[in-house]
Amino acid sequence: MEKSPEEQHPIKAFGWAARDVSGFLSPFNFSRRETGEKDVQINILYCGICHTDLHCAKNEWGSSKYPIVPGHEIMGVVTETGGKVTKFKVGDKVGVGCMVGSCLSCENCSNNLENYCKKIILTYNSVYHDGTPTYGGYSDILVANEHFVVRIPDNLPLDAGAPLLCAGITTYSPLKYFGLDKPGMHIGIVGLGGLGHIAVKFAKAFGVKITVISTSLHKKKKALEHLGADSFLVSTDKDQMKAAMDSMDGILDTASAVHPLLPLISLLKSHGKLVMVGAPDRPLELPVFPMLAGRKILAGSGIGGMKETQEMLDFAAEHNIVADIEIIPMDYVNTAMERLSRADVKYRFVIDVANSLKAA
Ligand code: NAP
Ligand code: ZN
Ligand code: ZN
Repeated sequence: MEKSPEEQHPIKAFGWAARDVSGFLSPFNFSRRETGEKDVQINILYCGICHTDLHCAKNEWGSSKYPIVPGHEIMGVVTETGGKVTKFKVGDKVGVGCMVGSCLSCENCSNNLENYCKKIILTYNSVYHDGTPTYGGYSDILVANEHFVVRIPDNLPLDAGAPLLCAGITTYSPLKYFGLDKPGMHIGIVGLGGLGHIAVKFAKAFGVKITVISTSLHKKKKALEHLGADSFLVSTDKDQMKAAMDSMDGILDTASAVHPLLPLISLLKSHGKLVMVGAPDRPLELPVFPMLAGRKILAGSGIGGMKETQEMLDFAAEHNIVADIEIIPMDYVNTAMERLSRADVKYRFVIDVANSLKAA
């Protein structure tokens, strides 16, 4: 008979898990493996709530295997290191993002693109090399191979820095890769949520002109005055959208739900790039003619490799880029998920794991 989550490994662990498509999270006893030669054991202090956690808790992508302990914006402190660990020592401040394993030998892995490895092992809702399920950061401890652990620069706060581990790298990587980081360019950011607001901060640091494209008029003031965006478009306002046609070099689309692409494609200049990072649960309709008229490019991007994740964290620390967060206790998580589903968060919930997760 298959071992229960509590019996799979020798180290007791405790977290909150979703058990079914309701997505409702509740206390969950499970276990973590012993610290292997290349592993570090991490005491989790903070964990951000990404919209992906919500998609997975509710099985919106059809790939969820319950129970699921979500969480892939994990900040903590190293409490134990394996004999062959070279990057970290006990007491180091570290982070773990969306992945905890890959093959480390394929072409993608060799090019520091573990995120595109066909054998990627995600931080939760995946199966680890030893055949056991992976569980994420809504929990007290984590054991991870040091290759998938990043060093947190001294001046980066662990709470507001946590969202960088997914939202940060997911927006930094495509802005760099697609060359949307050149001063003077005009870039649109679709969706002012967790990913979107960090994208604005990176784009600002790169020196590009930023237009936020949002469904929520009430976010305008904060976007312009606090985040420093240059302009704000309400995507449902046809006149505003029309006036901004043919004006952008690139658009990063972080929207979490199905939405029309035509109005966005129309905002692009010739050769403009629309880069999708949001992951709606159903396919979007692609109008082809407006792509042809202007040689426009549609692309996608998924998180980033470990080397680039470290580079992104160092860049964020240097430029004082952190997320705007609402710190919550663990037992607020179901309310937080419900608010996240209504885009009612400015702009990221972060769970104060160490101070609020009480073992049952
Ligand atoms: P979030 O905080 O909920 O933000 C998403 C934003 O999308 C909302 O704040 C809202 O912004 C906009 N939005 C929501 N419903 C919409 C609709 N029906 N039409 C148009 N816009 C809508 O979520 P997040 O954590 O930033 O994640 C965003 C998406 O990226 C999710 O699908 C997530 O799974 C995905 N993701 C992808 C990667 C990757 O590697 N590619 C990594 C992490 C997350 P406004 O109110 O401003 O319109
Ligand atoms: Zn995420
Ligand atoms: Zn690989």
